[in-house]
Parts: sequence; C-alpha cells; structure tokens
Amino acid sequence: MPERRDVVILGSGPAGLTAAVYTARANLRPLVVEGEPSSTSDQPGGQLMLTMEVENYPGFVEGILGPELMQRFRDQAERFGAEYVTRKATRVDLSRRPFGVWTGDPEGDPDVEARALIVATGARSLMLGVPGEDRLLGHGVSTCATCDGFFFRDQPIVVVGGGDSALEEALFLTRFASEVTLVHRRKELRASKIMQDRAFANEKISFRWDSVVTEVLGDTKVSSVGLRNVVTGEEEAMDVTGMFVAIGHEPNTALFAGQLDRLENGYLRTYEGSRTNVHGVFACGDVQDHVYRQAVTAAGSGCMAAIDAERFLEALGDE
Ligand code: NAP
Repeated sequence: MPERRDVVILGSGPAGLTAAVYTARANLRPLVVEGEPSSTSDQPGGQLMLTMEVENYPGFVEGILGPELMQRFRDQAERFGAEYVTRKATRVDLSRRPFGVWTGDPEGDPDVEARALIVATGARSLMLGVPGEDRLLGHGVSTCATCDGFFFRDQPIVVVGGGDSALEEALFLTRFASEVTLVHRRKELRASKIMQDRAFANEKISFRWDSVVTEVLGDTKVSSVGLRNVVTGEEEAMDVTGMFVAIGHEPNTALFAGQLDRLENGYLRTYEGSRTNVHGVFACGDVQDHVYRQAVTAAGSGCMAAIDAERFLEALGDE
C-alpha cells in the first residue's frame, strides 16, 4: 500500500521549502519530494543552489550564499517535522483523490498518496540549442558558474545572455577566468542598473554586442565557439575553454501536462492565490510565476500555498 500523507510538496526551492515550514508547523507532517542531485538546476534546493551571493533576501544584511540559504530553509522545515525524499517525481495522477505520486517506476502503484499536493517544481535554465552545446554540456558548457567556475582558472570564457543572471555569472567568473566575454544578442542589456554598473567597471569583462553563438566546438571539451554578428552578418571563431549559458528559464511543468491548466507561456495557471484548476492542488514559486521570479516572492507564494492547503484540508475533514 502506498504511504498516505496529508501534504506532499513537489520541489525544494524557496517556494517548496517555505510551504514545508508552514505545513510542518501546522502539524501536517509534509513529505517533500526534493529532486535528485545533478549538474543542472533541477538538483535539490532549486536554482539558488546554482547561484552565488544572494544580496536581496531580506534579513541577511551582508548577503548569504544561495546553497546556505536553502540549507537553512531545509533545516527549519525539518525542525518542525518535514520529511524529505531525495527523488524526482516521475508521475502524478490528479484525476482522483488522494492524488497519486510516483517517485520511481511510473507503472504500477503510486509511491505515495497525497490528500493535498503543493507543486513547487520551479523552472530550469534555457539552452541555446546550437550544435555542440548538448554534447559538451559538463565539458566546458555550463549553466552554473558557482558549480563550475573553479575549473576555468586563468582561461578565457564566454557568458551568453544580457539579464541579471548573465551578469552575475560573468562577475563571479572573473574570480577565476583570465577574461570573460559577454555575448549578447542586442546592444542593450536587460540586467538591472546596479549589475550593469558592476560589469562595466570590471576590467576582465568585455562585451560582444549584437552577437549570437552559432556553434560550440571541441572534441572532448570546449575549444572555441562560433559567433555571428546579427547586424553585420560577420562570423568569427573565438578560442575559449568555457561557455556559460544564462538566457533565462522555463517552468518544470511536463509532469502535469493534460492535468493542470497552463498559461500560453507554459507556466502553471493559478486562481485566487495558489489554487490550480484541480481542487486540492496548489502551485507556488517559479513554476507559476513568470513575472517576479525572486527567492523572496517564491517563498511568499510557498507560504500562500501552505495556508491554502491547510484550509483545504480543514474543510475536507476526515474525507
Ligand atoms: P532574463 O531577465 O529573462 O534575461 C535573459 C537574457 O537572455 C536576456 O538578455 C535575453 O535577451 C537573453 N536571451 C534569451 N534567449 C536567448 C537566446 N535564445 N539567445 C541569446 N540570448 C537570449 O533572465 P535572467 O537573467 O535569468 O533573470 C530572470 C529573473 O531573475 C529576472 O527578473 C532577474 O532580475 C532575476 N535575477 C536577479 C538577480 C539579482 O537580483 N541578483 C540575479 C539573477 C536573476 P534579450 O534581452 O534580447 O531578451
């Protein structure tokens, strides 16, 4: 028989873990399906595991490292009785209650049944989709400067993108790399002014405007990237040993296809707070927020989902 829980939370970023703190404190003994370690952003702890200093999370005057912040969230929820399974959900069945959640073989019985389900599966890095990128992922192509920056000591690298993430990655990588070239498809950055000022002031960072990466070259590791100027059409090969892709994210919603309503851009649709179209299923964090996408807003929406789930269970009674 599958184990039955009042609350199962899918995801362990700021949204999922805040939902865990609140539902654990409400004595609902939540089970957090936290994901599995991997080199990409879907490892436990969500995207903050791949970030460096978080300077804008209220209360941390001097800033805090992303992984440390997530460990604190996790410990806090655990202190109140939250439990974790270090697996990915492989299937959910929302057509019946309690909802079925699979964390292994998607055939057969579910591994756990949930009276209420909180979806906090977050978003993951978008990739360029150019030749060589996939093949060399983990061999010079990376989406995580914090994880991989150390490997590029005294080497030239490129960072692709023009938003806060790209600039944050570029700035961090100047600690290791000999030079960092930021490749951006326009000639204006999307990033916030403070990040732009920092990047422009950093002598190790140079900019390749109006440019895109056309391919990533190298036998077993990256040796160069092909660049094209989208205005002049000019092509060149740039010798680098690393390419960091920081061009945004897409929500992790594949698990819910055909079961939960989505917006046109793929993010989960929520109604009145964190409710989804399925009674008893709540969504929070980056899987449903394409506007703010901040750790603090994700945490806030995790709190909302927890309170909505608590109220739903209260109204359900013993059902
Ligand atoms: P973003 O703001 O959406 O920026 C994505 C960047 O990648 C844009 O410059 C975009 O170019 C470029 N891009 C998108 N698709 C591309 C493609 N196929 N090829 C080449 N370039 C492409 O994403 P983000 O930087 O990940 O930031 C997401 C959110 O998190 C933002 O709200 C940001 O402020 C926040 N954030 C904050 C911090 C911080 O406060 N320290 C750090 C990281 C992220 P265009 O500009 O031409 O569209």
